[in-house]
Amino acid sequence: MVNGLLKEYSPYLEYKDGVLHFDGVNLEELARELGTPLYVYSANHIRDKIRAYKEAFPGALIAYAVKANFNLGVIKIAAEEGCGADTVSGGEIYRAIKGGIPADKIVYAGVGKTDEELSYALEQDILMFNAESEMEIEVLNELAGKKGKKARIAVRVNPDVDPKTHPKIATGMKKSKFGIDINKALDVYRWASKLPNIEVVGIHCHIGSQLLDLSPFREAVEKVADLYRKLEKEGIRIKYLDIGGGLGIKYKPEDREPSPKELADIVTPIVKDLGVQLILEPGRSIAGNGGILITQVQFLKEKDDKLFVMVDAGFNDLLRPAMYGSYHHIVAVREKPQKMVCDVVGPICETGDILGENREICDVGRKDYLAVLSAGAYGFVMSSHYNMRPRAAEVIVENGSYRVTRPRENWDYIIWKEEV
Ligand SMILES: *Cc1c(COP(=O)(O)O)cnc(C)c1O
Repeated sequence: MVNGLLKEYSPYLEYKDGVLHFDGVNLEELARELGTPLYVYSANHIRDKIRAYKEAFPGALIAYAVKANFNLGVIKIAAEEGCGADTVSGGEIYRAIKGGIPADKIVYAGVGKTDEELSYALEQDILMFNAESEMEIEVLNELAGKKGKKARIAVRVNPDVDPKTHPKIATGMKKSKFGIDINKALDVYRWASKLPNIEVVGIHCHIGSQLLDLSPFREAVEKVADLYRKLEKEGIRIKYLDIGGGLGIKYKPEDREPSPKELADIVTPIVKDLGVQLILEPGRSIAGNGGILITQVQFLKEKDDKLFVMVDAGFNDLLRPAMYGSYHHIVAVREKPQKMVCDVVGPICETGDILGENREICDVGRKDYLAVLSAGAYGFVMSSHYNMRPRAAEVIVENGSYRVTRPRENWDYIIWKEEV
C-alpha cells in the first residue's frame, strides 16, 4: 500500500525488503556511504518526464528550466534527452552550456538582466532573449549594435490570468513584476521590430508555477494566440511561441499530478494552425519528483505532549517549507510496523525551521534516516550556508548504480577567500 503511494510520486521509488530504494539504489546504504543531508536524483525519472513532454508536443523545443535544479549532472541528462534550456541569469547560461546544452537552444528571461549578462548571452549567440521591459530591449539593441550582432527577442507578455497557485509563485497577473502588459504588447512589438539590431522572433509568457488546475493555461495561450494573429496582420513574423513552464507536481498524498499530455490537449488545438514552433519551459515537472532529500535523525525530544524529531537537514538545505509553507511528504528510509506522530525539525536556530508538522511516520530512533520527497526542484538550488552549514552532497542514481555529481562542501569551502 505504501509502495502504491510512493509510485505516484515516482515509479522509481519503492520499499524493497523494508528499505527505501530509488532508481534501484538502496538509500540506507547510500546514506551510510556518502553521509547526510544528501540530495538524490533519479536519472530515469528525469528522462521519463522529458520524454513525456516530447511525446505530447512533437516538434516543440523543451527548454528545461535550469533554475529548478541546476546541477550539472541533471543538466547533462536534459541535454542527452535533446532539451534546450530556459535560463534566468548569465550564470545559468554558463551552467547550461557547461552541462552540454547547445547555445542555440537557450532562452533567457528575467526582469533585471545586467549589461554583463546581456553581453555574455550575445557572445554565446543564444536562441532568444525573453525581454521583460522596453528599457531592456533598448539596451539590448545598443549592446548588440556594438558587437555587430542582432539580438533575437521575444517580448514576455503578462496575460493577466490568475494561475490559482501560491501567490509567491504566480507571475502572470497584472500586479506582478513580470512581463509587459499584453494590451500594450502590440505597440512594443511595432517599435521593437524597427530597431536595427533587434530581430523579433517570439512571444513569451510564463504565468506561474505549481499549477495543478490547467485551465489558466487555456486562457493565457488564447490571449497569446490572439496577439500572434494581430502581429501577423501587421507583417511582424513570429517564429516561436514560448508558453513557459508551470505544470504542477504531487507534493501531498492527495494531489493529482497533471501530465504533459493533458497540457497538450489544452494547448495544441489553440496553436496548431499558427505555423510557429512551440517552446516549453518545464522545470518542476521534470525534476521535482525526480529528487529526494535524505536526512539523518540526530535526537528525539518530547515537549508539551509533542514529539520532536531533530534531523540534520534544515531550511538552509530545503527552503520551501519555511519560505512558502510548502508540504513535503516525509517517509522513513527503513519501514517499520510501529508508527509515530511527530514534528520533523531542522538544526537551524530559527523557529521556522520545520520540515514537517504533525506527521505520521514509521518509528525512528537516533541515526535512522528519513527521506523528504519531491525535493528535486527548488531544493538544493535554494540552499544557503546559513549557520555556517556546508551544503549537501548531490548524487544521481540510475539503474541500481550511483554517481556523486557534487561533493559535500566543507568549512574551508565556505570561507574561501574570506579575510580576517
Ligand atoms: C521558473 C520559470 C520556469 C519554470 O517553472 P516551473 O514551474 O518550474 O515549470 C519557466 N519559465 C520561466 C520564465 C521561469 O521563470
